[in-house]
Amino acid sequence: MKFLADVMLGKLARWLRILGCDVAYDPAWEDEELLELSHREGRVLLTRDTRLACRRRAQNCLLVAGDHWREQLKQVVKVCRIEVGKCGAIHFSRCVECNGILEPTDKATVRYRVPAHISDSHEEFRQCLECRRIYWRGTHCQAIQGILAELFP
Ligand SMILES: [Zn+2]
Repeated sequence: MKFLADVMLGKLARWLRILGCDVAYDPAWEDEELLELSHREGRVLLTRDTRLACRRRAQNCLLVAGDHWREQLKQVVKVCRIEVGKCGAIHFSRCVECNGILEPTDKATVRYRVPAHISDSHEEFRQCLECRRIYWRGTHCQAIQGILAELFP
């Protein structure tokens, strides 16, 4: 299932990407562009805007109810039946920043592009095919997993 998030839902978009979902997001997109993209790419349009959700062209649309990203994420995961890994295991398949695909990369390749203490202490790295950002399982991952485990026990 592919998604498209409106300008109000940037944080939700990031969390859905952490769960491995394909979520297009650009705060510059106007309503017409959102509807067009949703239609053209078969993406579920996630929106907080009731007027947008009621538009005739908004057939593939989910009106997100909560004000807070935690409630929003729970709603989307439940309604769309998204699999959340055991204990909030992170998929590491999508770039949180740009939605690009993450591919495993050599430690030698990233060696001079991450802090020395990171390359010394980690073996596994992934890189975004779009923005080239490098990912590894750092301490922030434990924090993210903790939040996911709490939200989806
Ligand atoms: Zn990226």
